[in-house]
Amino acid sequence: MDYIKVEGSIILPAKVDGSPDVFQCPHFTLVKPSWVPDGQSSYCELCSIKFTQLKRRHHCRMCGAVRCSKCCGNKIPLPQLGIEEAERVCESCRTVAELIAKSRSTVDNFLIDAAKGLSSFARHEKHIKKLVELGGMQALIALASTDAVTVLSPVISGLQALSNHTALHNHLAEAGAIKAICKILSNVGDHNEQIAVDGINALRVFCKSANFKTKALNDGGLQPVLSLCWSKNDVIALLSISTLGLIAEHLGTHPAIFDSKHSTVPRLLDLALSPDEKTQEVALKVLAILSTGTPQHKHRLVQDDVNSGRCLHKVLESNPTNPQILCNVACLVGNLATNMEDQGALQDLMHGCYRKLSSAESKLELLCHLTRALANFAVHKPNVSHLTFAVPDVVKYCLKSSVAPVQAQSMRLLLTLLGHAPARVSSLLISEGTLAFLTNLGGLPGFIDAVHTSLANDAPSIAKPL
Ligand SMILES: [Zn+2]
Ligand SMILES: [Zn+2]
Repeated sequence: MDYIKVEGSIILPAKVDGSPDVFQCPHFTLVKPSWVPDGQSSYCELCSIKFTQLKRRHHCRMCGAVRCSKCCGNKIPLPQLGIEEAERVCESCRTVAELIAKSRSTVDNFLIDAAKGLSSFARHEKHIKKLVELGGMQALIALASTDAVTVLSPVISGLQALSNHTALHNHLAEAGAIKAICKILSNVGDHNEQIAVDGINALRVFCKSANFKTKALNDGGLQPVLSLCWSKNDVIALLSISTLGLIAEHLGTHPAIFDSKHSTVPRLLDLALSPDEKTQEVALKVLAILSTGTPQHKHRLVQDDVNSGRCLHKVLESNPTNPQILCNVACLVGNLATNMEDQGALQDLMHGCYRKLSSAESKLELLCHLTRALANFAVHKPNVSHLTFAVPDVVKYCLKSSVAPVQAQSMRLLLTLLGHAPARVSSLLISEGTLAFLTNLGGLPGFIDAVHTSLANDAPSIAKPL
């Protein structure tokens, strides 16, 4: 038996007889519960009355528990169990059982009642147990195949509430909840703010989990998100972009994002200059994630930035109050800097990075990204003559930093520059504080070993006499 634990309750989720994917097969039938043997209970669990010759035991057809006639007196049809005639259902199952039965109706008002009722159960922690045990989750997902917004609105809010319970993720995904969410998002778009917000929030939960990100993508999660990034509704756009960031962590999605008909990268570059700093931060974060991919995609990003009027340079030159904006753009530039073919187009950004060093002194994360970017630029020999101008600032703000990653990146930068222009850079280092540079060399992990190995080739420890 596959018990799960939700909000402290031990739950045995309802099982579908046949395909568990009730979004594809909305006319599902549940596996009937096994009946609790008569002898196992001498009291009615609902009202505590003792069973006797006169107070007979009755089985609830929904949960299989033994109840007294008062607590199990109602008879209703249970199409979800394949039972069309009215059967006994106990008081603790009745509401959900009726809602599930209604969800299979063809009458619009019944569908609305069912969606609202089941959704309300999903949103109340105390009621989730009954909902999941009796198949209410499946009924909610099956309702997503209708088109009426009055039904879809409570459905998506219920699914969003259920998605907050990690223990339910497997069951939700297996039952087709992600497909249901994507279908609703694709069909309703941003015409209804509540539906879009609940839908993206639910999808976002699955995209956060490494296990379900791929499932969310296979179930069609990318397209509605790409489309909603263009929403004129700021809340929806921001949520969609941040969800896109989670999706883009999966490198396999980059071709679809770069080639999407929605011109996603130009849109993100545009949002990088949004008047809202949170939007700027999130758009730049997604761009930075997209810059971790292939050289071709980095090149596309650089080209899109040039075509968009060099948004990244404008961001780098700005002084936002949100410190994460500059960190994200510096991280992005650092990633782009490894592309040799784009060095010409990246010159402005390289200069922007070293001009930012002096104002980044106390901002350690930014300093680290800036130094990494400069170290990446230094690999390209033609950049060296420009970067030597940055040496005094690098020594002052980075090399002497007490933060190890900043120190390590500045060492990488200086060593690369030394390799390309030893005379010029060493004279600069002597005038700017060689001591710190030399002292730190010994502390670089593996550095001494590498020097030993290199020296050993030219100066072996054992030799034959001449
Ligand atoms: Zn009773
Ligand atoms: Zn029952």
